[in-house]
Amino acid sequence: MGKILYLTCNKNEEHEYRFFVGIGMMFPSVYKEIINKIQQGKYGTEIKNFLQENPKGAINCSSEIAYCPKCGKLEEVVNLSMYVPKKNKQTVDTSYVMPSRLQTEYKKVKEYKHICSKCLSEMKIIKSKKEKIKCPECDGILKIDDGGCWD
Ligand SMILES: [Zn+2]
Ligand SMILES: [Zn+2]
Repeated sequence: MGKILYLTCNKNEEHEYRFFVGIGMMFPSVYKEIINKIQQGKYGTEIKNFLQENPKGAINCSSEIAYCPKCGKLEEVVNLSMYVPKKNKQTVDTSYVMPSRLQTEYKKVKEYKHICSKCLSEMKIIKSKKEKIKCPECDGILKIDDGGCWD
């Protein structure tokens, strides 16, 4: 199930951003859709080649928030880290892989580089609520709060 996160500026309450993170009920079809887009080259050649070279590979299709350390842009992105099955694990169903299965049955081989659409720098994924994220609109810091669930 997904979560809604609110990012609120500590200097101006009007600077508030809302993001959907995690996975929803439609995850199996979302997963297939993302794999299709990767195979069509919509996320670049590196990840496309990864899937060609690793037919049993899996992709982290969880939604996350990325931020640009250079210009401060915030964006909802698909994680897209690349995984291969652990040697001792016999993966049964590869039509879609839940992020929880990635933790136990797979090994991460590569992280996808998210590029900022505004300044073309490499973005970072927000991994914890304690991270200090600069407000894109002023010099405040964004506080990250849970705002309930979605599916
Ligand atoms: Zn940027
Ligand atoms: Zn602000």
